[in-house]
Amino acid sequence: MKDSIKRVAEDLMKSKYAIALTGAGISTESGIPDFRGPSGIWTRDPEAEKRAYRSYAKFQKDPKEYWRDRLSGPSLLGDLDKATPNAGHYALAELEGMGILKCIITQNIDNLHQKAGSKKVLDYHGNAFKLRCVSCGGRFESREFDLDRLLIEDQLPPLCQRCGGVLKSDIVHFHEPIPTDMAQQSLEEAGKCDLMLICGTSAVVYPFALLPRMAKERQLGKETILIEINAEPTPLTEEMISDYLVQGKTGQILPKIVEEVRRMQLFTKK
Ligand code: NAD
Repeated sequence: MKDSIKRVAEDLMKSKYAIALTGAGISTESGIPDFRGPSGIWTRDPEAEKRAYRSYAKFQKDPKEYWRDRLSGPSLLGDLDKATPNAGHYALAELEGMGILKCIITQNIDNLHQKAGSKKVLDYHGNAFKLRCVSCGGRFESREFDLDRLLIEDQLPPLCQRCGGVLKSDIVHFHEPIPTDMAQQSLEEAGKCDLMLICGTSAVVYPFALLPRMAKERQLGKETILIEINAEPTPLTEEMISDYLVQGKTGQILPKIVEEVRRMQLFTKK
């Protein structure tokens, strides 16, 4: 383990444009369950997965009913308002502060990277604290809307303050296209990077899982290093898309990497 931490730190120090890709695994140590890990939501309750697959169709058919459901039932991931970042989120924010990490592309909707202080975060699958207009693509903070009042007064769905279009949660549901701005910026970042730190994702959800594959293809033209930090091997490990895997918890491994980078920086300054 010590050697692989050193190897990641060395690779980060050599990189010119490092980015991180994150998934539900980085937030499990903040008490938010993942989907496909050993105690993930889908692993324990396959019916919940089937229900989640119907959300987008429900929105398209009847936005009012979609909103009624969302506001009446419990949230699948628990109370995200109360969740706080863990050492893994803070370590990535620190790497950005050091000028090493240029961007995080996250599948998570929990806002924990932003809470930890990361500045450049692309919420590939949206953000649970935002609403998005399906007509103009504008995003708004949920707290700007009194959704419970709209429910009581039968005024759902909420409407866009700019164009009057229908608002849905910013969360990207299964079968829903990735918003164009996020898709484009993520592709650009994946195309630019020379190091990709892939943290806490099973890498089976598409099109997100194409980002490392795309970076790997570009490796033919230039040196791009793909490093996984995950509790278990993934298809990226098995198909040798990633160069190497550091197996374990992101909340333990990422802070050690930051510590090693700091040690190396001190050493190179002398
Ligand atoms: P996933 O559930 O498919 O996979 C999580 C991976 O992380 C697994 O391989 C698991 O073994 C690993 N893991 C779990 N805890 C870890 C830890 N502490 N350290 C390192 N690895 C750990 O998650 P995914 O690949 O992100 O795909 C799930 C989809 O569901 C995503 O699209 C995401 O939008 C959504 N989701 C988001 C949240 C969140 O916002 N926190 C939570 C659950 C699901």
